[in-house]
Amino acid sequence: MMTTMQAMVLDAAHVPLRQAELPMPQPGPDQVLLRIAACGVCRTDLHIVDGELTEPKLPLVLGHEIVGRVEAIGEGSEGFAIGDRVGVPWLGFTDGSCFYCRNGQENLCDHARFTGYQIDGGYASHTVADARYAFHLPDAYTDAEAAPLLCAGLISYRSLRMTGEAKRLGIYGFGAAAHIVAQVARYQGRRIFAFTRPGDVTAQDFARELGAEWAGGSDEAPPEALDAAIIFAPIGALVPAALKAVRKGGVVVCGGIHMSDIPRFPYELLWEERVICSVANLTRQDADEFLALAPKVPVRTTVVPFPLAEANMALDRLRHGEVTGAAVLIP
Ligand SMILES: [Zn+2]
Ligand SMILES: [Zn+2]
Repeated sequence: MMTTMQAMVLDAAHVPLRQAELPMPQPGPDQVLLRIAACGVCRTDLHIVDGELTEPKLPLVLGHEIVGRVEAIGEGSEGFAIGDRVGVPWLGFTDGSCFYCRNGQENLCDHARFTGYQIDGGYASHTVADARYAFHLPDAYTDAEAAPLLCAGLISYRSLRMTGEAKRLGIYGFGAAAHIVAQVARYQGRRIFAFTRPGDVTAQDFARELGAEWAGGSDEAPPEALDAAIIFAPIGALVPAALKAVRKGGVVVCGGIHMSDIPRFPYELLWEERVICSVANLTRQDADEFLALAPKVPVRTTVVPFPLAEANMALDRLRHGEVTGAAVLIP
């Protein structure tokens, strides 16, 4: 039995992660101990490292797109056997009793705790996870391919649902989340219009490969008015841009956890019943639905693997928009 594990540790914002050997965690009640096979790198991780999300536990092991296998089972833990493959997402704990939990919105729980933020996550060789918030994963995916489903997939699925029946769908920011949601949206018969950083030909080509019928810069107008738009890029200036691109009654969904300030804009852009909303976290029902749907589409994930020890490089590449698809750490 190993007594230590490898991890990349965040000691403070704005400081590179530190490679460390930590004591092997033991699964407590309701928990399982996982040997990690892959962990996705999410933009949220960058927001934590860059100090834009201000309440991480420290020191912290980042990572909330964890794919691992059960090595030990804590007291009372149900649903998984030794050796089972398990997916661990961002939502790590809810109180089950607050107003939101009682009303089917556990994503907004007053006492929620999140993996890789208040709970140590998957930038490591091992972790413990609460089995009540973990999932079996579809067999059609390798470990690395499955990792991005757990946040990029889940959050983008929730974002897509908030666009209702929108047929002409704009997507701002064509990274990990967009590359998954575009496939689901096409499967549902929607038309995709992809907006990238101006001049990012690689991302625009990638968007077209995944079914976008139009791809251009975020400073461009789409060829026709959109029914809805989802903004994944963390740039507030895209909100008025997207409002301009949607028709009367259109919806603009902000899919990220953090965004730079939204610049002031004339009321006229919101007028005529346009709607702006945000998407926060996920519910376990979102995960059940999306993980059942993904292999039917079938969603294919494009992953760029990095050794665990190169987590800082993976974050840097993501920061500079240099990852096509989703970065995944392999311990
Ligand atoms: Zn609650
Ligand atoms: Zn995430």
